[in-house]
Amino acid sequence: DPAMPSNFIYDAVADDVAQGKRGGRVQTRFPPEPNGFLHIGHAKAIVVDFGVADDFGGICVLRLDDTNPETEDVSFVESIADDIRWLGYDPADERFASDYFEQLYAWAEQLIEAGLAYVDDQNGEEISASRGGFGRPGVNSPYRDRTVEENLDLFRRMRAGEFGDGTHVLRAKIDMAHENMQMRDPVMYRIRRAHHHRTGDSWAIYPTYDWAHGQSDAIEGVTHSLCTLEFESHRPLYDWFLEKLGIPDAPRQYEFARLELTHTVTSKRRLAKLVFDGVVDGWDDPRMPTLRGLRRRGYPASAIRAFCREVGTTRTNSRQSIEYLESYVRRDLNATAQRRMAVLRPLKLRLTNWPTDENGDPVVEHFEIANNPERTEDGTRKVAFTGELWIEQEDFQEVPPPKYFRLSPGREVRLRGAYLVTATDVVKDDEGNVVEVHATYDPETKGGNAPDGRRVKSTMHWVSAPHAEDATVALYDRLFTAEAPGERTGEALDDLNPESREVLSGCKVEAALSDTAPGDVVQFERLGYFAADTEQPMLFHRTVGLRDEWAA
Ligand code: ATP
Ligand code: MG
Ligand code: MG
Repeated sequence: DPAMPSNFIYDAVADDVAQGKRGGRVQTRFPPEPNGFLHIGHAKAIVVDFGVADDFGGICVLRLDDTNPETEDVSFVESIADDIRWLGYDPADERFASDYFEQLYAWAEQLIEAGLAYVDDQNGEEISASRGGFGRPGVNSPYRDRTVEENLDLFRRMRAGEFGDGTHVLRAKIDMAHENMQMRDPVMYRIRRAHHHRTGDSWAIYPTYDWAHGQSDAIEGVTHSLCTLEFESHRPLYDWFLEKLGIPDAPRQYEFARLELTHTVTSKRRLAKLVFDGVVDGWDDPRMPTLRGLRRRGYPASAIRAFCREVGTTRTNSRQSIEYLESYVRRDLNATAQRRMAVLRPLKLRLTNWPTDENGDPVVEHFEIANNPERTEDGTRKVAFTGELWIEQEDFQEVPPPKYFRLSPGREVRLRGAYLVTATDVVKDDEGNVVEVHATYDPETKGGNAPDGRRVKSTMHWVSAPHAEDATVALYDRLFTAEAPGERTGEALDDLNPESREVLSGCKVEAALSDTAPGDVVQFERLGYFAADTEQPMLFHRTVGLRDEWAA
């Protein structure tokens, strides 16, 4: 990939490297909590974390931030590692914050000994109530001035599991009147008798994000700890812990804006609800903004990377339009996807003057059609053609409306790469629906061009009926109707689009499509890009249309 467009993080890192700060090294980390699947927002963070490391010849480590045992699970660890690899990145190492629990504990005792941390017996409610507010100082805990010995004793007993959940916490002793709320004696440890997916039952206390994060960065040798803007107010605390521990060459935290997309939610909690409520089929439903969902939908990893790079790394939260992401997907697929013909809503087209062979069977011809006109090296394929074909229902109108240039009685059109045909009459069912169209073909127009130079206004895709394969095609609309889901009522799920998926069975597709590898994306001519399902044969998901068709 090309280097990231220059941005403030890039500039800060370049400065540090030029000044030889932290040994002139660059090491970043991507620190997901293993409590869900990665989504498009995480992709942005991954591209920034790995991109900065790559661009400065450094490394990026995957750190599982596994400090909340109740919500985390080992299955997420595997999916996260797998999704990062799919996106195209290879972590230099895979680490776990839980690997550092012992060191974090030792450092906590060090802070207690320095008179910089204390055990508080207040419960969570009391602690929040005494925090104060903006312009309103907090109130010191009645336990704030415990002796070092008493604090050490209590902290060791917290660790030993002598106290019930929620009865005690360890807090940093900073300043209850600090203008930054994060600095008002933040909690470092909570008692949680929870089974941890890696450390089992060996710990009864778990570190908070604020206590674990910067110290984990320091242990790993991270130089630049890149995170999203909501952590900006945590930065003084990040620095405070490292300074009080006397850690040399301490890492620095830099914040950038979260990536949000229109018509999309990227909160794990809301995405989980979509899955549990059965709104979608699972975390990898092609409508989900998870990397699994986007992948199943056919989004190329390279398009997601390019999008994340190009939206820029800024310090202003904003919502990017989903059309913009789609434009990257389309650009990528236009260059790579093989062209095929598929008829989604079939209507029979019979060529009444099509010849028969010596046995009285209709002649079958084969046309060589380019696999991808954008890339001649992809060659051609043979597509069977005969007198009985499938065309799209919407490509025929018995009484054409104004400006309708596709097939109608008396109108000549081109069947792509094959012949010019003229509709003559129709066959209707009892209810008056057109069930078959009759047409004549002009044998002089083989390949699709008339020797006399006459022009037709429309070129249509087709599939030979006796050679067609059956397929099922899923068409997708936005999962949320509102640009900013939840803006109206506060609940994003109120803006769900009830018609986000339309499944068409009985589609007729050219035989070559049965060779599509699971997960491959092809272009159905005139219809868009479609991904072959990874499990069900002959099921195709529409990745994206050929052009922006959403515009209202
Ligand atoms: P969620 O709110 O969905 O639970 P999170 O931020 O808690 O997300 P983590 O697993 O902690 O999820 O995230 C790992 C990293 O990805 C963090 O550095 C976080 O800042 C970053 N990240 C998460 N969501 C986004 C987003 N929408 N845009 C950019 N970065 C993100
Ligand atoms: Mg988080
Ligand atoms: Mg979270």
